[in-house]
Amino acid sequence: MASALVPGGDSEYGRHGNPAWAAFEAILGTLEGGRALAFSSGMAAATALFDLVPLGAAVVAPSGAYNGTLTQLRDRARRKLIELRIVDISDTAAVVAAADDAALVWIESPTNPGLDVADIEAISRGAASAGTAVAVDNTFATPLRQRPLELGADFVVHSASKLLSGHSDVVLGAVVTDSDRAYRAIEARRTTMGAIPGAMETWLAARGMRTLAVRLDRAEANARELHRRLEASPLVSSVRYPGFGTVVSFEITAGPKAAQTMTETSEVIVYATSLGGVESTWERRRRNPAEPHSVPEGLVRLSVGIEDIDDLWADLERTMTSAS
Ligand SMILES: *Cc1c(COP(=O)(O)O)cnc(C)c1O
Repeated sequence: MASALVPGGDSEYGRHGNPAWAAFEAILGTLEGGRALAFSSGMAAATALFDLVPLGAAVVAPSGAYNGTLTQLRDRARRKLIELRIVDISDTAAVVAAADDAALVWIESPTNPGLDVADIEAISRGAASAGTAVAVDNTFATPLRQRPLELGADFVVHSASKLLSGHSDVVLGAVVTDSDRAYRAIEARRTTMGAIPGAMETWLAARGMRTLAVRLDRAEANARELHRRLEASPLVSSVRYPGFGTVVSFEITAGPKAAQTMTETSEVIVYATSLGGVESTWERRRRNPAEPHSVPEGLVRLSVGIEDIDDLWADLERTMTSAS
């Protein structure tokens, strides 16, 4: 907790570096197989990468990407800073075709909240032969389920506000790369632009990551079981779950209005946005006016926590039944 440091050490000023950032970065870098740089939020981390795209160059991005990412990319495209090519990220051939002459392919997998899955390895191979860099938003999978650098990607981006921290008490982001040149460019960018993390946030995230493996195992087991029970329920019209991770998205037969009521009347599951905490949270995504209209009006994104599975199911079943 210091802004000014005595000359002669690694750093002299708090915008340049901090031992708490370094501890968080060492853990995340080890897990992803590269070197990490912490930022003030997931969006700040994404911004640092987008800023490296040459003026007017093309960026390929998933139609189902996180709405904050799409909002930023559309803003850049409107101001002619980039050319934006929107693709279905699960259509590998289309993504590789769009990567031709592009500066960057932005992958999010699984996507938020549609849970589309990308073939990172095949896309990275195709993009590499076109000379195009690949970045993967690995927020939903975490390095314990997916290691994009090993699959050929050049950058990994995280919203550490979610599973990495794990307790819904931190806003933090990170970029990871295995290129020393890119590392230095992004670090210089962070120092100059100032989107630095707080010492407290990185300390909390480092503490949260001590339990990432056990939290993820437990929450994922819960998510798998809820997916199974939701699929079997006559009150549910569609369920999405990629087979791993802690997020399940679904729609109920009774429609969007009933879905809204359902999410507002739960007792175990917290009615809230965000995801990746030890407590289960859910919301109907389209209640947020910024959510793309490609997301169904009634889609509920459920972030599954580490509670007792029968408590979770009882809450789900009660709220679904009384709202329907
Ligand atoms: C939350 C989220 C972000 C944005 O991260 P912040 O830490 O909120 O800035 C980016 N990508 C995905 C997939 C997210 O879920």
